[in-house]
Amino acid sequence: MTRILHRQINANLRVASGGKGVELFDQDGRGYIDASGGAAVSCLGHGHPDVIAALHAQADKLAYAHTSFFTSEVAEALADRLVADAPAGLDYVYFVSGGSEAVEAALKMARQYFVETGQPQRAKIIARRQSYHGNTLGALATGGNEWRRAQFKPLLAETHHIDPCYAYRYREAGESEAEYGARAAQALEDKILELGSETVMAFVAEPVVGATAGAVPAVPGYFRRIREICDRYGVLLLLDEVMCGMGRTGTLHACEQDGIAPDLLTIAKGLGGGYQPIGATFLSAKIYEAFAQGSGLFQHGHTYICHPMACAAALAVQEVIARDRLLDNVKAMGAHLSRRLGERFGNHPHVGDIRGRGLFMGLEVVEDRGTKTPFDPALKLHARIKREAMNRGLAVYPAGGTLDGARGDHVLLAPPFIIDAATVDTVVERLGEAVDVAI
Ligand code: PMP
Repeated sequence: MTRILHRQINANLRVASGGKGVELFDQDGRGYIDASGGAAVSCLGHGHPDVIAALHAQADKLAYAHTSFFTSEVAEALADRLVADAPAGLDYVYFVSGGSEAVEAALKMARQYFVETGQPQRAKIIARRQSYHGNTLGALATGGNEWRRAQFKPLLAETHHIDPCYAYRYREAGESEAEYGARAAQALEDKILELGSETVMAFVAEPVVGATAGAVPAVPGYFRRIREICDRYGVLLLLDEVMCGMGRTGTLHACEQDGIAPDLLTIAKGLGGGYQPIGATFLSAKIYEAFAQGSGLFQHGHTYICHPMACAAALAVQEVIARDRLLDNVKAMGAHLSRRLGERFGNHPHVGDIRGRGLFMGLEVVEDRGTKTPFDPALKLHARIKREAMNRGLAVYPAGGTLDGARGDHVLLAPPFIIDAATVDTVVERLGEAVDVAI
């Protein structure tokens, strides 16, 4: 019996008592393969000795110093490392405690940028349906999942949503990838013109849509068009890589594969690998300069920004990923996972789609494979799959509302970067049983 208000009201949650490598253990010593890394968090798995050693060393040296008095060696080292590897032009970084805070900070940077540069009327945000950007009020307003937003309306920010670049839809409409990508990007230009470009602040999108859609990448060329449209109208491009970033898709930043760099980029989850809560917002030199030459400060801040323990964890996680060439493993194991999912579910009567990049894969579960009709949401199929998977020693991240926020079920796989081929095979085998039994 728990006294904690958990996100899911469930008085009888299992207790996680330990973790080692890709496995978590409950209070009875039962093991679960952590096949979604929590929610694309635990990129190095659990109990990594190098990260633990770095945390011990940092705790011995300095656990906390408030940023209005000090910076710290470890925060500076992390910033240098991240900026060196960031997409072109993102020369500065701001450290926070998680993904929602990173998005919140990015939105405020965009707003302040336009205030500082004499365009305060630019306050509107355009984002996409079927997106998730966090649960704080600004991030919630930005996300396009109506089910999450509805009960909190009116939300604080003025946000308009366009259709995502969503593979499921273009297949239904019978369009080619290129046609679909062009049409999906055109929706942004149409929306900017409808709202009046001088009132639009930012376009916000996940390069690979995670929690709400199950690892859906944009079609090739979509983000290049989006970048052009943002530039044409002076709208800032904010890419949210909280879930799909930091190596998850096989490159450090997912947008590298789309061939573009945004003006603002958010990361979290895999940054600290779950060893500490940490997120970050990258900003372009243009935005930094507007603050530096304007008011001289970013009018934002939390008590725990740049937390030395969080920075130490993130620095160690990122050093291990580089030292052990784990992005090569993400690519190799991602290809293996994709192949195995294809073998097991490619002709499955209730799997409508298998998609993703690297170790970020989604399965869409449908009533009818041919028409891709979703199951009745009342069945809560995603919850049943999760339960059956847990019963088989597999922790996966299934969600409902894949299609339009209300209908549709998917399973998201995002295992640790250290996973090996035999464990991938076990994941697919257990997931196959769970899906079959749940339906
Ligand atoms: N943005 C994206 C794309 C996410 O997937 C998430 C978390 N699922 C967030 C923001 C919010 O991150 P956090 O839960 O750390 O606040």
